[in-house]
Amino acid sequence: MSEAKVFDYQFKYRVASRPGGEGLLSCFACGVCTAGCPVSEVEGDFNPRRIIHQILLGEQEELLQSEYIWLCVGCYRCTAHCPQDVEFTNLLKVLRELAVEEGTVSAEWKKVVDEVDRRTQELRRALIKYLWNKGINSLEEFERFYREEIAKLGWVEGEGSNAR
Ligand code: SF4
Ligand code: SF4
Repeated sequence: MSEAKVFDYQFKYRVASRPGGEGLLSCFACGVCTAGCPVSEVEGDFNPRRIIHQILLGEQEELLQSEYIWLCVGCYRCTAHCPQDVEFTNLLKVLRELAVEEGTVSAEWKKVVDEVDRRTQELRRALIKYLWNKGINSLEEFERFYREEIAKLGWVEGEGSNAR
């Protein structure tokens, strides 16, 4: 039997009262943020509009315990395109702060995520240089190379991995 969800109807006011959360209550659920999000493209369950809906419903516990609030890469595309100036990128930062404050994750976890972001850029730089130097310059060659490399990483889920 699944556990009943816990709702905190004051949660939205706590989020909206924090720097970065001020625009929350202006959201009219148009979905523009989700449509342009690069993380939503690769992770269908990451849905900014749904996260806002969950905040408004008061699903505090579920949200603060979710890995999804850590997936955003901070590109600010959602914020730039939002017709209501909601600033979803900053809303997620508020959720992350609350997760740390409420002990859902350790303060060290936030540093780990920051380091993942930094290393991802390093990885991208190394990959581009490698492809350039090896002359891998067609999509077909790249797909083959990518699938071979990803297959070596057992923990990577998704297209091209061997984890499914
Ligand atoms: S784009 Fe803005 S108004 Fe539309 S759902 Fe996203 S946050 Fe809400
Ligand atoms: S800032 Fe985060 S949520 Fe917004 S579009 Fe970029 S990755 Fe998606």
